[in-house]
Amino acid sequence: MQYISTRGGIAPLSFTDAVMMGLGVDGGLLLPNEIPKIDSETFASWQALSYPALAFEVMSRFIDDIPASELHDLINKSYATFGTKEVTPLVALGDLHILELFHGPTLAFKDVALQFLGNLFEYLLDKNKSVMNILGATSGDTGSAAIYGVRGKARINIFILHPHKRVSEVQEKQMTTVMDANVFNIAIRGSFDDGQAMVKALFNELSFKDKYHLGAINSINWARVLAQIVYYVKASLDIQGQGHRGPIDFSIPTGNFGDIFAGFIAKKLLPGNTIRHLVLATNSNDILSRFVNQGDYSLRNVVQTSSPSMDIQAASNFERYLYYLMNCDTVQTKALMVNFLKTGKLDLSDQLGQIQDDFLSTAVSEEAALKTIRCFKQAHDYTLDPHTAIGVHAALEHKTDGIPMICLATAHPAKFGKVVAKATGTAPVLPEALEGIETKATRCELMDADTETIKQYLKTRARHLP
Ligand SMILES: *Cc1c(COP(=O)(O)O)cnc(C)c1O
Repeated sequence: MQYISTRGGIAPLSFTDAVMMGLGVDGGLLLPNEIPKIDSETFASWQALSYPALAFEVMSRFIDDIPASELHDLINKSYATFGTKEVTPLVALGDLHILELFHGPTLAFKDVALQFLGNLFEYLLDKNKSVMNILGATSGDTGSAAIYGVRGKARINIFILHPHKRVSEVQEKQMTTVMDANVFNIAIRGSFDDGQAMVKALFNELSFKDKYHLGAINSINWARVLAQIVYYVKASLDIQGQGHRGPIDFSIPTGNFGDIFAGFIAKKLLPGNTIRHLVLATNSNDILSRFVNQGDYSLRNVVQTSSPSMDIQAASNFERYLYYLMNCDTVQTKALMVNFLKTGKLDLSDQLGQIQDDFLSTAVSEEAALKTIRCFKQAHDYTLDPHTAIGVHAALEHKTDGIPMICLATAHPAKFGKVVAKATGTAPVLPEALEGIETKATRCELMDADTETIKQYLKTRARHLP
């Protein structure tokens, strides 16, 4: 299996080289040069597999440069940290199925990918006798999931910037209470965008990036998408195991287009007619909904909502879909992306037929999201987090009789207790992982949003080759 860039500027790479590269050096995103196809017999034979065993079957179709026994070990280790044996349990509630992706150490779906990526980095660095200093900015969930992915690992230090007092208290504590010596939290006096801009500036300083072995852990790494394909396959098998034959729909709350893109690949991977619709749900930051419904991919200002992990305009994984929409034409993909970076918009209304074959979409207002949390609690005594509620609202709009609808539940409601309390009148019960977190010791540096300051800090704490 070889990996190529959506912009066509990179000679084919192996899986492990693609993982270590992260973002393509030509500015494009990396993708397998073809998507394998699973036939119905093979798919049916996976029915009884455990989550890690299934993950091995799926991932090994995309990875041919890690020996099987070592890949098995990596996968087993990554999912042993989850709170349930099923890893991603499926719960039936009324007309819907909720796919709970929040049983990892930080209670958000990002753990599914970042537990694996952390172990994969450790394995590859060990093999190459190298080191990595991960640098990232977070608006909340990614930071803690990344920290938990690499805490205590021998060849990795991690530096995470978050905007001081602008992440939820639980999110802040999830990051700053991790005491491993390789974890460095930096609260900056500024916004998430300020943090992101500084991280970009440091990655763009190529001599600094090389000398200090900077690594990224953001959602453009192919290994993250790959790990997320697995639960689409698992949920489809679970539904079939309940006796259902015929297609299944999924609804996905979307920000950076990572999770839903994994669904798009899963649909190509599985036998035809396994997955029917992929419902792309956004909050009022609706660029992706406008894209699906009108072919209009144009930037607007980011507005703050109660589903902050989806308060995004330019979706970092969008280019991967664009490549398929352009029938794998890298010249056209690159031209469109260059145009988008220049003008902030793309008119893809000519492709609307194909886009709407691939996705349905709804943008969900703040009121509708809160109402969904309240109604779902009343009807099923089940608490949705605000991100999941966006997907559930869109799912109910697009649900058709006789076709199961699976809603991806991307965070535990306790991570967003204030919003949930506002919607339902009661705060969600804190899960064990968060008990007592308010009073735990924390470690964090407060700094100005100044690139030079961050750079000096990093220089004195970076891990070096032995
Ligand atoms: C990151 C995140 C999302 C959005 O996922 P994408 O892959 O960026 O589309 C949705 N919900 C939660 C809770 C998240 O943390």
